Amino acid sequence: MLEVAKVVETVLAVDVGATNLRVALFDLGGNILHKEVVRTPTAGDDYTIAREIYRIGNKLLGRISKARLMSIGVGTIGPLDIRKGEVINAPNNPLRRFKLKEPLTRMFNVSTYVVNDCVAAVWGEYLVGIGRGYSNIVYITLSTGIGAGVIVDNHLLLGKNGNAHEVGHIVIDFKRRIRCGCGGLGHWESIASGSAIPRYALLRARKWRGENTDAFKKALAGLLRPEDLFSFWRNGDTFARSIVRDLIEVNAAGIASVINVYDPEVVSVGGSIALKNPDFMKLIFKNVRRYVTNRMPKLTLTPLGDDAVLIGAAYIAMRPPKELLKLQCNS
Ligand SMILES: [Zn+2]
Repeated sequence: MLEVAKVVETVLAVDVGATNLRVALFDLGGNILHKEVVRTPTAGDDYTIAREIYRIGNKLLGRISKARLMSIGVGTIGPLDIRKGEVINAPNNPLRRFKLKEPLTRMFNVSTYVVNDCVAAVWGEYLVGIGRGYSNIVYITLSTGIGAGVIVDNHLLLGKNGNAHEVGHIVIDFKRRIRCGCGGLGHWESIASGSAIPRYALLRARKWRGENTDAFKKALAGLLRPEDLFSFWRNGDTFARSIVRDLIEVNAAGIASVINVYDPEVVSVGGSIALKNPDFMKLIFKNVRRYVTNRMPKLTLTPLGDDAVLIGAAYIAMRPPKELLKLQCNS
C-alpha cells in the first residue's frame, strides 16, 4: 500500500542579528525541524534581508515533502517601527533601514509578526524557558549590541514604536563622551557591546601607563576583539584585566539599572559575549547587587542558548502576544 505523507504544519522563525541571520522551521510543538545560519546582509536595499529570508525559508520548506506554513515570526535588531514591522536606523547594520513584515507577508502569503530580537527571546523564556511560571521577566542580550525584552505583570512591554526596552542606550558614563552607534553619548552599548570593545580598549590604551603587554599592543592598534580580550584576561594580562574590570562594572551597572526600572523576578542573559564567557558573567552577577535598590531577582544565563531569539520568534508566530496583535494586524 502506498504510504501517504502527512501534512506537517510549520512556522518559520527568523533571528535577524547584527552578525548572523538565522532561519528555522519549527513544528507546532516548538521543535526545530530545519535550520540555516548565514551572515546577515550588510549591503543592498530595503528588501535585501527579506529576499534572503525568502530564499532560505523556501529551501527549508523544500526539505519536507508536505509542509504547510502557518505563520512567520521575526526577532530583529532594532530600533523598530513596530506598526510597519520594519527596522529604522539600526546602529549595528550599515543598511540602517530594512523592511520585514510587508515583503515577507507578500512573498510567503501568511501572517508575519515582527518584534525586537530580545522581545522574541523574552517571549520564549516566558512560555518555554527560564521564565515559565513567573510574571515579571527580563531578557538581556550582551552581543554585538545590547538590548532587552521585558514582561511586567504578565504584560509584554512594547512602547509606541516597539522600543520600550532599548536598554543598551541607558547612559552609564556621562564623562567619557564615547559616541554610541545610535549617535548618543556614554551609552552602555557604546562601551560594553561586542562592537564597542575594540574602540573602548583603544581609548584606554592611549592613556595606559602600565605594562607593555600583548593585549595593550593589540588594543593600541584598534584590534583587540572581544575574544582576544577574554583570552588575554584569562592568561593574566594586566591591561586585559584592567579593561575587563571596567566591563564588569559597566555591565553590572547596566543590569542593575534594568532591575531598578522593571523590578523583575528573573533576569535571563544571552548573546554571544555572555554565552561564551560564563566566568566573566559570574563576576558581573556578583557585582549587580551593589547597584540595585529593588529586591534581587534570580540572575542567570539563558537556558535557551544561541537559539533563544529563534525559539522566541517561533512562539511569536505560534502564539502572538495580545499586545502585538493590537499593533500589527494581519488581515
Ligand atoms: Zn546608543
